[in-house]
Amino acid sequence: MSAETASTKAERGAASAALTPDLPTASETVGGEEEGTAELHFDTLSVHAGQLPDPVTGARAVPIYATSSYTFRSAEHAARLFAGEALSDAHGNQYGRMHNPTVDVFVRRLMALEGAAGGLALASGQAATTATMLALARPGAHLVVSNECFGGTFSVVRKLLEPWGVRVSTVAPTPEAVGEALAQHPESTVGVWVETIANPSGSVPDLAAIAERCRAARVPFVVDNTWGCGGYLCRPFDKGADIVVHSATKWIGGHGTFVGGAVLEAGRFDWTDPKFPAFTQPDGRGRTYVSRAPKAAFTLRAYDLGLFTMGMTLSPYAASLALQGLETLPLRVERACATALKLARWLERQGAVTRVLYPGLESHPSHAVAARTLRHGFGAVLSFELASEAQARRFLDRVRLASHLANIGDAKTVVIHPWTTTHASLPESARRAAGVTPELVRVSVGLEAPADLEADFLRALSG
Ligand SMILES: *Cc1c(COP(=O)(O)O)cnc(C)c1O
Repeated sequence: MSAETASTKAERGAASAALTPDLPTASETVGGEEEGTAELHFDTLSVHAGQLPDPVTGARAVPIYATSSYTFRSAEHAARLFAGEALSDAHGNQYGRMHNPTVDVFVRRLMALEGAAGGLALASGQAATTATMLALARPGAHLVVSNECFGGTFSVVRKLLEPWGVRVSTVAPTPEAVGEALAQHPESTVGVWVETIANPSGSVPDLAAIAERCRAARVPFVVDNTWGCGGYLCRPFDKGADIVVHSATKWIGGHGTFVGGAVLEAGRFDWTDPKFPAFTQPDGRGRTYVSRAPKAAFTLRAYDLGLFTMGMTLSPYAASLALQGLETLPLRVERACATALKLARWLERQGAVTRVLYPGLESHPSHAVAARTLRHGFGAVLSFELASEAQARRFLDRVRLASHLANIGDAKTVVIHPWTTTHASLPESARRAAGVTPELVRVSVGLEAPADLEADFLRALSG
């Protein structure tokens, strides 16, 4: 495939839009360079940002660039690319482990939706977590992680970080607990890590208040915004976060068809802080991450570790599915949240249900914080408890419309028993700390008609 089949701007972005400080503006990426189009709304960006129609073929959808490599225009061009220069006058694609034009449109669209200054896509949410944690930490460093995080996040902590000599404090994601943990290790803490909405308790941390503590301690604030649905329900950068991590497998993709992830950065953190020597350590050419990408130094390091070094690359086929997902993200998530709220209220009225956990319910302990941290809805996941573990498991055996599986964010409603599946590898005390009980059923609400879901649940609850 010749370089001319991609538009100039797509080419310019292809290698390093995520890394270059002079990113194309939203108006450039939607093709309208005239004034007044820079402040586009989320729904518009979700279908347009990061892409221009292909000027050669006219293809309106983003082509899948199934290529591992790219021709160089000259010896000079190749040498400049390998020197890591961000070339704005020519295509900057070097090799498929790092560069792909399809993947790049996905990254730039997600950056526009989240309001990011830098970003990269990776092979999975786990890859995004791994690259982020390794880019922040080093032996002797200290990381603060919410005790309500996704199980795979703790796997990275236990299997990679701790054996490597990183100390990790798991704390409740409250400003007070985070503040205490920061005060205990003022010089060595390299990050605070929370999730927008905890799984399955539905608790929502006060991101703005935690960001305040992090800023005062000069510690980067990382938010796993998977449950914030690509920025539609929550834009953590607006609350003061420095880094956002995504599993694109969930609502971004939205149809349970691939595994993918992303890391984004706000571009505000000062990476020349002595806590982060890797960012100012000169490479063989005397350049540093900070000198090469002053507004996206973290992205450059995560890219260097995650893609160049570890090869946790997102395939262009998956990126194409992720882009298709983003185009309907606001519609899907708005509907799923509305149905989740309806279903939560309906479940509250069922005699067999002893407790319903959904941040959209006034009864949820996080309701007030959720109301000021989220927008457009309270998420598409709810949990409820029945009288016994046996009843919870029986419910899963009896649903017909809802699928019993280990995923969330699918267009189809899915249910699971976290105590014996997703959270089973955690000690009982950790499970309970995360709000998981033997009686609890988790529901990720899809796009079915609410009445059909209620009928399915009623049948499974009764008899
Ligand atoms: C699923 C998930 C991950 C891991 O993502 P994968 O794409 O499955 O690797 C990380 N964080 C959260 C909150 C998740 O829900």
